[in-house]
Amino acid sequence: MSTLDPILVDRIQQAVRDLAAEQTAFLQQIVRIPSTTGTEGAVQVAIADRFRAAGLDTRVEEPRNADLAPWAEHITAEPDYSGRPNVIGIRTGTGGGRSLILNAHIDTVEPGAREHWDRDQLSGDIIDGRLFGRGSCDMKGGLASNFYALLALERAGYAPKGDVVLEAVVSEEDGGAGALAAVLTGPRADAAIISEPTERAIIPAQGGSLMFRIHVEGRSAHACVRDEGHSAIEAWAVLHRGLLEFEARRNREITDPLYAVHANKIPINVGVLRAGSWPSSVPEWLMAEGRAGMVPGETLEGFKERFLNEVRAISARDPWLKDHQPRVEWMDGQFAAAGIPGDHPLVGVVAEAHRAEAGSAPRIEGVTYGADMRHYILAGDMPCLLYGAGDVRLAHAPNESIPLAELHAATVTLALAIAGWCGVEPAT
Ligand SMILES: [Zn+2]
Repeated sequence: MSTLDPILVDRIQQAVRDLAAEQTAFLQQIVRIPSTTGTEGAVQVAIADRFRAAGLDTRVEEPRNADLAPWAEHITAEPDYSGRPNVIGIRTGTGGGRSLILNAHIDTVEPGAREHWDRDQLSGDIIDGRLFGRGSCDMKGGLASNFYALLALERAGYAPKGDVVLEAVVSEEDGGAGALAAVLTGPRADAAIISEPTERAIIPAQGGSLMFRIHVEGRSAHACVRDEGHSAIEAWAVLHRGLLEFEARRNREITDPLYAVHANKIPINVGVLRAGSWPSSVPEWLMAEGRAGMVPGETLEGFKERFLNEVRAISARDPWLKDHQPRVEWMDGQFAAAGIPGDHPLVGVVAEAHRAEAGSAPRIEGVTYGADMRHYILAGDMPCLLYGAGDVRLAHAPNESIPLAELHAATVTLALAIAGWCGVEPAT
């Protein structure tokens, strides 16, 4: 049973139904405007217009590198962001309530080749209750649910007591400079929700990742006397096996219940290998690049140290590697893990809102990928979670789509979450 006022729930459900056609048209409009990372300007004009038309205090601000500089390691900074502003729309509360940010990133990945899609990549077509197009699920649908959650709450006759801040941010897909700028220079709030496609699971914890490059040395010799050399490939095999044992040990150590659903909580993936220069020479060099996962509670600095210690320990056990220490470099793309406890009040409010809409409890779990929530938690010291309609598996693929029924359900939940977190009073 939900503790939310059943009249409030009924009215909000009705308001979301009343606004559904308009919300769908809005989502079609913004899906049809291309906004691959780096080219978000045009869609932001359309969104700012809509925010202003809804009477929101609307701010259009480009991220500035001077603001981002202290956090540069956490994003992939571009030389500049001109023509690529964040759009922030603020509804000032009536007073006395907690404030809430509802965030969505507006950039998308590349649409990909037309022949892999059944229809135009930005069609916005609706087929069997799903709206198709690059960005429909990840995550223009999220923006449409955030915006219409506020509009539905108001149409239902309520005004939030705390401020509600709608954010459409740029540059998430390449590291999150937009959200970071919004956190550092935009309005603060008592909590933030990012409506990434989670299939309406509540995600209070996100994984981090660190990209590494390892150089392994060998000793060259002619293949006909290969025993007189030492193969860098064979030396790497020892190190790789050791890193996989490290991964298995870490998986056994991590007891956070939010990660219990994941067989591999902190994948260590080696994605690139290069070695040697000639088939009949013993390779004297090898370079491996990979990505190691982290869970909340681990810091970038702490984990780097642990990783280096592990490489040293593996090397110390091998006769060749102990005298030829592999060299580790850190690549760009270092994303800290972040999270809030599974019993945080923000989780409680969203879970309650979900229960009131769905009639059952939501899944609450951590994820092994990264998202903008780390900026809110780590740089902004604001509690944050992910919750939204759509399936992330469709997000970067051909024929990306979002089911409209799920979008409407998420919109109801978010409107109820605003009511639960910010408080409401009858609109005058
Ligand atoms: Zn996304």
